[in-house]
Amino acid sequence: HEIVGVVTETGSDAKEFKVEDKVGVGCLVGACQTCEYCKQSLENLCSKMIMTFNSTDTDGTMTYGGYSDKIVVHKRFVYRIPENLPLDASAPLLCAGTTVYSPMKYYGLTEPGRHLGVVGLGGLGHVAVKFAKAFGLKVAVISTSPSKEREAIERLKADKFLVSRDSEQMQVAMGTMDYILDTVSAYHELLPLINLLKPNGKLSQRSRCNFLLCHYYLV
Ligand SMILES: [Zn+2]
Repeated sequence: HEIVGVVTETGSDAKEFKVEDKVGVGCLVGACQTCEYCKQSLENLCSKMIMTFNSTDTDGTMTYGGYSDKIVVHKRFVYRIPENLPLDASAPLLCAGTTVYSPMKYYGLTEPGRHLGVVGLGGLGHVAVKFAKAFGLKVAVISTSPSKEREAIERLKADKFLVSRDSEQMQVAMGTMDYILDTVSAYHELLPLINLLKPNGKLSQRSRCNFLLCHYYLV
């Protein structure tokens, strides 16, 4: 579902693309395109959406995603990749990238100079740090693994690294963050993260968590 490649053939109505264009395909290859969600470009909420892999296509066959050598995709679900962007570097943007870029833009976690905490430094977290630095944010990576500090600071240029199991470090950082982007997929407590936020801070949850109601602005 992070498919990149080159166009080899186009349908008569797919005039936006031409042979040899660099393109990508994300998690979706189909949707009804007529419901209220599709009309708002929210095809991921469409009850008839078709996933790129392990889904039933309109002809009743199974979708196999990027495991195939070639794929036929409706133009609505094909994205142009700029000439100067290498294909291998583009692929993660089609799932991990959009999973963090979309909430950052949609909920306004992008104001330069603001302080963002990125929880977890896996596939989602590492692109989140790169986007955040490009937006001009001050970035703290929050992780259970002290071994990730070097990658966070030296390679991804994060400003700060917090070990979430170190209660002293977490205590010092309380109330210092404007935004938190939580990318951890394992079940974990939200409260220690919420404590890091300033009043009216925003926390965007990208995965499952033990949900706790609170007066902070959860997005
Ligand atoms: Zn729809």
